[in-house]
Amino acid sequence: MYINKSKKIVIKIGSSILVGENGKVRKKWLNEFIKDIILLIKLNKKVIIVSSGAIALGCNLLNISKSSLKLDKSQAIASIGQIELMNLYKKTFDKNEIKISQILLTLEDTEKRRRSLNARRTIENLLSMGIIPIVNENDTTATTEIKYGDNDRLASRVAQIINSDCLILLSDVNGLYTVNPKLNKKTTLIKTVNIIDKEIEKFSTNNSINKYGSGGMVTKIEAAKICQLSGCYMAIANGKKLRPIKEILEKNNCTWFIPRVSKLDARKKWIIGSISPKGALIIDNGAIKAIRNGKSLLPVGIKTIDGKFEKGDHIKILDLNNKEHARGLSSFSSEEINKIKGCQSNQIKKILGYSSKDEVIHKDDLVKV
Ligand code: GLU
Repeated sequence: MYINKSKKIVIKIGSSILVGENGKVRKKWLNEFIKDIILLIKLNKKVIIVSSGAIALGCNLLNISKSSLKLDKSQAIASIGQIELMNLYKKTFDKNEIKISQILLTLEDTEKRRRSLNARRTIENLLSMGIIPIVNENDTTATTEIKYGDNDRLASRVAQIINSDCLILLSDVNGLYTVNPKLNKKTTLIKTVNIIDKEIEKFSTNNSINKYGSGGMVTKIEAAKICQLSGCYMAIANGKKLRPIKEILEKNNCTWFIPRVSKLDARKKWIIGSISPKGALIIDNGAIKAIRNGKSLLPVGIKTIDGKFEKGDHIKILDLNNKEHARGLSSFSSEEINKIKGCQSNQIKKILGYSSKDEVIHKDDLVKV
């Protein structure tokens, strides 16, 4: 069982787990859940919680409905609800003499390398002091373009940054089904996913979206992709049940995503796990072959540039059919690449008027998908 093998476990709690359909906080669930945390601590595991619920609890306090909220209003509500959320955790954990901390992350905190290292250091320090970090997105300042938007991908990025071996997404269903079990009883729970292929993607769009969360199955599959590439096991499990972790340990009634064998170092895992690539380069077959063989990406093979990005930004590498082959950190801005695309590297200086690197993405900054 993957939980037993893991040392550092990230557990993501969705809004619909904390707040019931009736809009009431599920205190009994939380009081039971703490027993799962105690069990994991006894098993010598380090636990990090990623919790949604700020907006749901804010709405609950003010007695307003989430569905009608515009972004700026939900940011204001999140600032109210985040206190409620942490209060709830603090009271419950205090009773059990477990110390917690609050970490609010913005997209840049994981997408900029230096900031992601800072976040990692902070979380590592907390874990070494025996404290349970409780992470949420900093909803109060995040606008649409700079937002994770869902805590599924945030949780997978946190798991990747701290080199966790297991992420558990607590959802309102047992896992990934062939069709949404709430709509059709003739459905099958998929127990293990090794490769996320077209069929799995299709199943994910068949599945549910709930009243409070912003995730649904699609973002859970996106999270699974990041985990698979980071060498981290990921489960989608039913968090509505009392003691969901005990339930997984005893019955294993969930969907597990198995990581791909990965020899990538931490930096390359960070590159491949990017949540918000700023653009894409479409390259010819010769260049695809070269990067597949571990070479750098040169300007000569670049056909089209998609998006606007700066030097150092995360970008995707696509073939002429728009299939993704790699991700990397660009050594040039999109404007510069527009000028040098299709050229030999020794012409770069002449074209741009200043000397620069020979490669658009150096092989050390490039990771195959
Ligand atoms: N960060 C949001 C909150 O705490 C939730 C995002 C999500 O639904 O995953 O309310």
